[in-house]
Amino acid sequence: MSDVLPRASELGVIGCHVCGLVCKDIGVDGAHCPRCHSALHYRKAASYSRTWALLIAAFVLYIPANVLPIMRTVSLGDVDDNTILSGVVELWVKGSPDLAIIVFTASIMVPMLKFFALVTLLWSSHRSSTWARQQRSKLYRLVELIGYWSMLDVFVVALLTALVQFGLLSRVEPLPGVIFFGLTVVLTMFASMSFDPRLIWDGRESDDR
Ligand SMILES: [Zn+2]
Repeated sequence: MSDVLPRASELGVIGCHVCGLVCKDIGVDGAHCPRCHSALHYRKAASYSRTWALLIAAFVLYIPANVLPIMRTVSLGDVDDNTILSGVVELWVKGSPDLAIIVFTASIMVPMLKFFALVTLLWSSHRSSTWARQQRSKLYRLVELIGYWSMLDVFVVALLTALVQFGLLSRVEPLPGVIFFGLTVVLTMFASMSFDPRLIWDGRESDDR
């Protein structure tokens, strides 16, 4: 297709990252958005390296998040330490399959899909790939959207701790694994924020529209 639209840089305008206002490029370094006063730039600075660094750090922390126990339950003198996966299995076995599915989705499936989606976005954009640009843009928006829901597992531990604390005979304590899990979630959120989705549209112009 020949009707390739001009880029903002060709028209001398910059879209503000924060409020979306389209501003005229006055050709000065360190220009600011007149509406929200954020720094204006065509692309987020060092987007690739920053996103990769955060993503790798998140992946490294995801290992202890799964290997270390996240929660200790003490019931009638019975001490039980659970990792995320053993917690899911226990919930399933003890007759709460719905809760097991929620925890499995929030703690294992969503983080893995997020890693996979961000690596795909980074790798394909870095190669200036024109493959499925619209779908990749949608994928990025989805990653941003689910970011807010990924802390669910930490909330489950917090909620259980609060609930069971009222009982006299049983006790729930959060263990170090939950800190690593929380850090993984925060780092993947920062990673998706560092990625500039406009990079998807950079590179070679082609017939892919
Ligand atoms: Zn602005």
